Amino acid sequence: MIAYEDGLKIILDSVNILGTEKLPLVKCGGMVIAEDAFARSDLPPFDNSAMDGYAVVASSTSGATRESPAVLRFVRDIPAGIAESYTVGPGEAARIGTGAKVPGGADTVVIVEETELKGEEVWVFREYPPGLNIRRAGEDFTAGERGIPAGKPIRPSEISFLAANGYAEVEVYRKPRVGILSSGSELVPHGQEISGAKIRDSNGPMICSLVEKYGGVPEIHGIFPDDEGLLTAFVREKAERFDFFITFGGISMGAHDYLKTALEKGGARMAFWKVAIRPGKPFGFGKLKETLVFALPGNPGSAFVTFEAFVKPALCKARGFMPPYGEYLTATLTEDFPKKEGVTVFSRGNLEGEFPAYRFSPFKKQGSGMISTMVETNAIMIAPAGSEKISKGETVTVFPT
Ligand code: AMP
Ligand code: MG
Repeated sequence: MIAYEDGLKIILDSVNILGTEKLPLVKCGGMVIAEDAFARSDLPPFDNSAMDGYAVVASSTSGATRESPAVLRFVRDIPAGIAESYTVGPGEAARIGTGAKVPGGADTVVIVEETELKGEEVWVFREYPPGLNIRRAGEDFTAGERGIPAGKPIRPSEISFLAANGYAEVEVYRKPRVGILSSGSELVPHGQEISGAKIRDSNGPMICSLVEKYGGVPEIHGIFPDDEGLLTAFVREKAERFDFFITFGGISMGAHDYLKTALEKGGARMAFWKVAIRPGKPFGFGKLKETLVFALPGNPGSAFVTFEAFVKPALCKARGFMPPYGEYLTATLTEDFPKKEGVTVFSRGNLEGEFPAYRFSPFKKQGSGMISTMVETNAIMIAPAGSEKISKGETVTVFPT
């Protein structure tokens, strides 16, 4: 049996970052960019007005006050989007919209609130220095400047930069293809009625949803009965088509737990089959050619925890993300938490409070087969192997679920 940290290291060391693909910009949110992205022109491309107002020669407003305004001549209306060739002279005012190109001659923009339009006259109620309310060409980015380095996650902000610079398509790391296999002769598809000794396959849809949450492309391969031959044939024939292959159940000590043998006979070279964590002690990881193989335990709580603990970081790395591969918070434990020494415990519970004073209360019911506690929980605490008890008031690490 190996420690949680050692298992995670073996897994992450086995992950290769996947290849790249070109995607339309609108599909790139949440992906990792695989190329440096540059400003293709100055941004803004021309001096433009930061406010609605009047473009003037600053000296025309000299000495202006509310009592004795500068009286300028209205010469033009320059809305955004119009390239105006008119040159504003002293004593003139051109109405200008936010984002409109500042006309030649003008060196400042008087905001509309400090003016009044009276017929053909524009009254300005205060003196303006040159250079006010003008956004200069290239003040945001200059042509050729690197805006986004390769390897950065594409957030809405990066989408904005890419769109502003005319990137219709972007080279990103592709999403992993993830094969998912449910097995167990007691399982029926979730849309069907159950009778006798059957239950619905809840892990298949849950893992599918987790895979999507962390950026993989899930492919569900239905429910297999506990049949060594069928399982082995599937592993041998299909598993290598995926980047990740995930199974659950069938890896414990039961007489009909055939997945362990099926994976090995099917060609997977497994690095380990047991990890010192709870829930989720039976958990296998290995490789079948280039495919990463994750054999999760069958109990829904254990499948969830082992996915979060091991599959999630691997998916993130494969997609080009830089560590850390998850969001971890610290919280104060609200009650004593006894645990077995030597085992890393993932405890479901309730995270409350506001940053930085988060509090975490573990649930009493932690049964690994219980779906209800998974629904109620909003965070999982990672209680390290080294301790045999964590005391009320201690600081613990949790991650939101
Ligand atoms: P096993 O390791 O195959 O003995 O499975 C452990 C427990 O998890 C059993 O109670 C199974 O019925 C349950 N289980 C296994 N696979 C699934 C699944 N896909 N959906 C819901 N429960 C499952
Ligand atoms: Mg089973």
